Amino acid sequence: MKTISVLGSTGSIGVQTLDVARKQGFKISALAAGGRNLKLLEKQAREFSPKTVAVFDDEAAKNLKIALADTNIKVVGGKEAVIAAAESNCDIVLNAIVGIAGLAPTMAAINAKRDIALANKETLVTGGHLVMAAANEKGVKIFPVDSEHSAIFQSLQGNPNSNKYKIILTASGGPFFGKTRNELEKITPADALKHPNWDMGQKITIDSATLMNKGLEVIEAVHLFGVSPEKIEVVVHRQSILHSAVEFEDGAVVGQLGTPDMAIPIQYALTYPNRYDSPAGKLSLTDIGTLTFEKPDTQTFKCLPTCINAIKKGGLCPAVANGANEKAVELFLKGKISFLQIGDLVEEVTNNFKNLENYSLEDVFSADKYAREEVLRLI
Ligand code: NAD
Ligand code: MG
Repeated sequence: MKTISVLGSTGSIGVQTLDVARKQGFKISALAAGGRNLKLLEKQAREFSPKTVAVFDDEAAKNLKIALADTNIKVVGGKEAVIAAAESNCDIVLNAIVGIAGLAPTMAAINAKRDIALANKETLVTGGHLVMAAANEKGVKIFPVDSEHSAIFQSLQGNPNSNKYKIILTASGGPFFGKTRNELEKITPADALKHPNWDMGQKITIDSATLMNKGLEVIEAVHLFGVSPEKIEVVVHRQSILHSAVEFEDGAVVGQLGTPDMAIPIQYALTYPNRYDSPAGKLSLTDIGTLTFEKPDTQTFKCLPTCINAIKKGGLCPAVANGANEKAVELFLKGKISFLQIGDLVEEVTNNFKNLENYSLEDVFSADKYAREEVLRLI
């Protein structure tokens, strides 16, 4: 039986992680969340009885403390509390916080020598070199939760001597695949929040619609697997059944297929190398019938090439692209900018940035702040 600390427990991945934990009988040492959905957090705390619950928002933490006063659960508030949850005594930390807010907790878990099941891709996009170097130094394992990276990880099992391979990173294409820039001019947040295959948090759903998500995933793959960006091919696969693949030197392509259900990658990250029955449905290839593969449209969806250029430049460029995107998505969801402006802003802010190759954690946060301010200046 494993003990897990779940960061971002009230989100899409967090809830599905607790479904897996319930099914496998895992213990929960700590829960952490932002504080917007307190009723759910209270319910989770009552069901899983963690030692502590960390709430990023101090006011929300006070309210939860009152709500859980009849239990032995310790409720703590603030950024430091979330970090303490990442360091708590457990077998593995599952980080499903959204955005760069997940970076400091990931670093804290590594420094406390906790293995990590990583859903928070922004951790690797913004601080990739520092995170991988620290994990290496501390002997911490990072298991991918992102479905594509889990598929790559699964495809690499049993090929211990092969370090020369190409990654085929699949993308659903999102709700606007095939549309022209003209057709995208009037897209509203409600349109963009409808994803054809996956039910996810708001930010990643918008990232999927702009293809920023695939750009972030290219950067994530570079760090996780130590491959160069040139060795990653993004392929649009509308059905989201082949979750990604690797092509070995001899031409053999090995991939992982399954229903589009995050329970599979979440559970594998927690139970690796073992497999058990999961909450996910089983795949029927004859029901699916056809799998299609196409090239992405990098003219219309600028975020993807911008991210690829950013990781080729390296240094703080990916952190800047990510920061610009986080701010732009926030403004789009508030109705302050148009859908197309997201890609335009990410491109402009990233291209204008004077890069710094060697960086510290503080530099990453400064680059993020810079990118957000640039977005506000440009609109
Ligand atoms: P979400 O918005 O549904 O949930 C985010 C969670 O993070 C919530 O519990 C929220 O309370 C918490 N949170 C936000 N700010 C916080 C802070 N400062 N401190 C502590 N907790 C905080 O997001 P999601 O869709 O579950 O995605 C989470 C991460 O997983 C993202 O990085 C996303 O890219 C990645 N991911 C998600 C999916 C998916 O299917 N949803 C798939 C692959 C990868
Ligand atoms: Mg993914």
